[in-house]
Amino acid sequence: MNYDVIIVGAGPGGIFAAYELVKANKNLKVAVFESGHALNNRRCPIDGEKVKSCINCKTCSIMSGFGGAGAFSDGKYNITNNFGGTLYEYIGKKRALELMQYVDEINLKYGGEGTKLYTTAGSRFKTLCIQNDLHLLDASVRHLGTDINFVVLQNLYNHLENKVDFYFDTPVQMVEKTENGYKIITEKGEYLCNNCIISVGRSGSKWMETVCEALNISTESTRVDIGVRVELPATVFAHLTDELYESKIAYRTDKYGDKVRTFCMNPKGSVVNENTNGIITVNGHSYEDPAKQTENTNFALLVSKHFSEPFRDSNGYGESIARLSNMLGGGVIVQRFGDLIRGRRSTQSRIDEAFITPTLQATPGDLSLVLPKRILDGIIEMIYALDKVAPGTANEDTLLYGVEVKFYNMEVAVDKNLESVHKGLYIIGDGSGITHSLSHASASGVFVARKIAEKH
Ligand SMILES: Cc1cc2nc3c(=O)[nH]c(=O)nc-3n(C[C@H](O)[C@H](O)[C@H](O)COP(=O)(O)OP(=O)(O)OC[C@H]3O[C@@H](n4cnc5c(N)ncnc54)[C@H](O)[C@@H]3O)c2cc1C
Repeated sequence: MNYDVIIVGAGPGGIFAAYELVKANKNLKVAVFESGHALNNRRCPIDGEKVKSCINCKTCSIMSGFGGAGAFSDGKYNITNNFGGTLYEYIGKKRALELMQYVDEINLKYGGEGTKLYTTAGSRFKTLCIQNDLHLLDASVRHLGTDINFVVLQNLYNHLENKVDFYFDTPVQMVEKTENGYKIITEKGEYLCNNCIISVGRSGSKWMETVCEALNISTESTRVDIGVRVELPATVFAHLTDELYESKIAYRTDKYGDKVRTFCMNPKGSVVNENTNGIITVNGHSYEDPAKQTENTNFALLVSKHFSEPFRDSNGYGESIARLSNMLGGGVIVQRFGDLIRGRRSTQSRIDEAFITPTLQATPGDLSLVLPKRILDGIIEMIYALDKVAPGTANEDTLLYGVEVKFYNMEVAVDKNLESVHKGLYIIGDGSGITHSLSHASASGVFVARKIAEKH
């Protein structure tokens, strides 16, 4: 089969690239290859009863399939250059913001109308934070919620299914250069195209590495963020989340000068397992539908670690720490803040006696046996700093789940068009290492689609 464009990966990057390609030129022959399932077949077997923890499915339905890693996410589309990726370094701040706004319009058109857009502009919490040595980052956040996010994906699929050839459950094994373009090799056959967009996200990071090696594309990996997911009664952060929904707060520690930040805040949400390449880490989400909401809010506290020469495997470092928690706890470990401070492990009875009900069943244990001292010290310092703007954060019963790791894909060398050294081979989304969010990944898809459409 010959295509004008083949897209590898049906996450937000791939979906928005496909959307924009067929919008710009309906005559383009476009195919999308996805190792995971179609949206309606995506189901994580963990039901809390028969299957209580991850059973390592062949393809993880949380991370893979139509919608990518974002399909069951909280659907928070951050419209900002302050976090979520460094797309602006390639395409400019103005264009990056315009594209994120464009993505927002499409999300509204396909089912997201009526959802709330929060903004930090003019917020009184900015002052409160700065008075306490904390920094609230500027952003607008469209909160679709897990349920509406799914509806938007369904509508986008319905819109695309007759315009684009989708190949689900079809991992691409290799991309080879041909005289006029690229050969996409899968178990089911080989396909040719003039342009190839690779958008394989975090779950495709290892595969991306092999492709870069085979095609001689340079890469760099120097950053990883490691920390815990904090869960506390929703009332503790209600004054912030009611107004801002998602607040990104950054702090520099006194002790080491390390940067710690809040990440992925889920008011009235649930803590969930995440499986990345067989390693179980923790994440969180929340629903727009009040019936599915909980009494707790959760968010990650992450310490950024940048490595310098000669160490180049920052993800390997993060994976080793996550493996350690898996080794000790058989998965994710949960500990009460009070127990951590007292230097003792949490036990099931201490968790049961707490004034908060955990939303994830994790193994009670001791995070100080898992996290390096420097990282743990940073987290504890930040919890006390947050306690000043949200009293109750440093309560004995505050739950810490570990570990949460934010793996940054190695950065792949691309130019300002997001094109690799090989003409017609574009690398976008989280798999490029340039984006780390729904909005930036989607915007990168629209950007390359327009670049390709200009050539036809
Ligand atoms: C639980 C959870 C909650 C999140 N919440 C948010 C949030 O609220 N806001 C936010 O901004 N971000 C959130 N994120 C991150 C967000 O989902 C990602 O930044 C975003 O999905 C990246 O999009 P992408 O298209 O680059 O990659 P992905 O969404 O990861 O999609 C890549 C796709 O490529 C496929 N693939 C990989 N390798 C191959 C191959 N060899 N062949 C074929 N297909 C392949 C994968 O199966 C996957 O479906 C969350 C992530 C998780 C896991």
